[in-house]
Amino acid sequence: MCMYVFVKERVESRSFIPEEKIFELLEKTKNPDPARVREIIQKSLDKNRLEPEETATLLNVEDPELLEEIFEAARTLKERIYGNRIVLFAPLYIGNDCVNDCVYCGFRVSNKVVERRTLTEEQLKEEVRALVSQGHKRLIVVYGEHPKYSPEFIARTIDIVYNTKYGNGEIRRVNVNAAPQTIEGYKIIKSVGIGTFQIFQETYHRETYLKLHPRGPKSNYNWRLYGLDRAMMAGIDDVGIGALFGLYDWKFEVMGLLYHTIHLEERFGVGPHTISFPRIKPAINTPYSQKPEHIVSDEDFKKLVAIIRLSVPYTGMILTAREPAKLRDEVIKLGVSQIDAGSRIGIGAYSHREDDEDRKRQFTLEDPRPLDQVMRSLLKEGFVPSFCTACYRAGRTGEHFMEFAIPGFVKNFCTPNALFTLQEYLCDYATEETRKVGEEVIERELQKMNPKIRERVREGLEKIKRGERDVRF
Ligand code: SAM
Ligand code: SF4
Repeated sequence: MCMYVFVKERVESRSFIPEEKIFELLEKTKNPDPARVREIIQKSLDKNRLEPEETATLLNVEDPELLEEIFEAARTLKERIYGNRIVLFAPLYIGNDCVNDCVYCGFRVSNKVVERRTLTEEQLKEEVRALVSQGHKRLIVVYGEHPKYSPEFIARTIDIVYNTKYGNGEIRRVNVNAAPQTIEGYKIIKSVGIGTFQIFQETYHRETYLKLHPRGPKSNYNWRLYGLDRAMMAGIDDVGIGALFGLYDWKFEVMGLLYHTIHLEERFGVGPHTISFPRIKPAINTPYSQKPEHIVSDEDFKKLVAIIRLSVPYTGMILTAREPAKLRDEVIKLGVSQIDAGSRIGIGAYSHREDDEDRKRQFTLEDPRPLDQVMRSLLKEGFVPSFCTACYRAGRTGEHFMEFAIPGFVKNFCTPNALFTLQEYLCDYATEETRKVGEEVIERELQKMNPKIRERVREGLEKIKRGERDVRF
């Protein structure tokens, strides 16, 4: 091999994911000592991010009693730091043209069965109006990877989302899940005011990655892996990482997510705003998605969620409607901070129900409950569903980190703001039954507050009942 090819290959395959080391750590920490496991759990409860060797140790816990201690710690950490709020959002698919051929995805270029569509400006407005009329305030806009989805196009569509008002409502925060961009591209997208830019690495295992992404720009592992570095360099402070579980060994992927986190911390002084952990779901005419090579059982799924919670205590965690309602109810308690609800992923399906069918969708969702039903279920479970965007709108990025790092922040800012958005929902969109449970929850939360804050929150709630909107602390 000539020297140039050799050097090029080495440079291209170099990254912050030390595969050999991950395998070594997962091997070395097998059959962990219970005392060591408890020490690690305590470190996490003390709000410290774990080191790779520590996460590997937790991943190797098999003993049911010790595992229960891990679950209990994840529940405690969530409650102690973030309280009982759950932020709600909806995905909005803008277009499904794609030049890549990810073997698990219904939108892959070689899938001739799926119907290709990109929303026109009018259709996009219709979708936004349908979402706002359900009560949504936060969206994640989703795109295939295609030259027509240029940074200018993405920016334009986000701008339309922000400017489409309906009744009393509007979308107040738009997060993005799109292909990795150049630094210049990110700057164009940032200019319209976005929340989090999400890119999932899918699998951190390079060889598997190359096998499952055979064509198109996405076949470049490093371009994707460093995609969020470029976002940070362009000034986007909130970035979201994720792995698609089912493509490779789940323990390896959790280690990959942790190394990615550490890389962002070391390079930019701030870790990921959110971590996502989707599992593969069946997509039309996509054999791989029907039978992924590394299926993750529900038990292992719960374990990985709890271990991510303990490994990176400061990050937001997103659980999507890919998972069935019953499992979501259980997993939420293990540390999740955001869920989607009332989601439709057919292109145009919020305003035209008939578009919510397999040949227009990327994959199948297993929790099809409408937003109001999810709200009611959360309220009955003791959660405070929230549409809060106060930090983002006050220019405070990394809101999740403040909740974590500033004592009293949740009590004094997050809970009041969550209650304001809940009250707006109850006034404008809730069914009678949800309104009743919601009012009870608001009263219960008020009783927990110190009298001074309670008074101010009551004033805010009264303003909302009189018709004022977007009240915040
Ligand atoms: N096209 C862009 C990309 O791939 O980064 C952004 C949007 S893509 C539609 C969003 C995510 O959907 C992917 O990153 C992948 O993790 C997930 N996904 C793809 N196929 C899936 C499937 N069959 N089941 C569950 N999630 C899937
Ligand atoms: Fe295209 Fe994204 Fe689907 Fe891959 S996952 S085929 S890039 S839409």
